[in-house]
Amino acid sequence: MRGGLPAGRAFPNVLLMSDTQVRTYAGSCHCGAVKYEVTMVPPQKAAACNCSLCSRAGWLLAFVPDGNFRLLSGEDELTEYRFNKRHINHLFCSKCGVRPFSRGTDRSGAATVAVNLRTLADFDVTALEVHSFDGASL
Ligand SMILES: [Zn+2]
Repeated sequence: MRGGLPAGRAFPNVLLMSDTQVRTYAGSCHCGAVKYEVTMVPPQKAAACNCSLCSRAGWLLAFVPDGNFRLLSGEDELTEYRFNKRHINHLFCSKCGVRPFSRGTDRSGAATVAVNLRTLADFDVTALEVHSFDGASL
């Protein structure tokens, strides 16, 4: 668990992944200061959140356990933005403004990362089946 986060029930529980299903994707912000890798089952669905922030930002999200996400660079460039109940640590690059991911907890309290699939390299978001995620009710 990452310190400082209240025990909110923010993100949906993530699915367990078997090693044979997963692959590792590279992602970044626009200017390249923030780089990350995420290991997950190739996403076929994305969550479009209806909260006041995500509906403006246009994120397409996948939720992964914190252990499947590695921030490679840009920790110092990330600026935190919290609102409403302040459960979710929304992060954006202070240079280019792109929001590659947010940190929070799932319904069981496990540290979870919401990855903005639009920030993956070489990944076609237009092929995703988009589902609504009712973040506005959190
Ligand atoms: Zn940037």
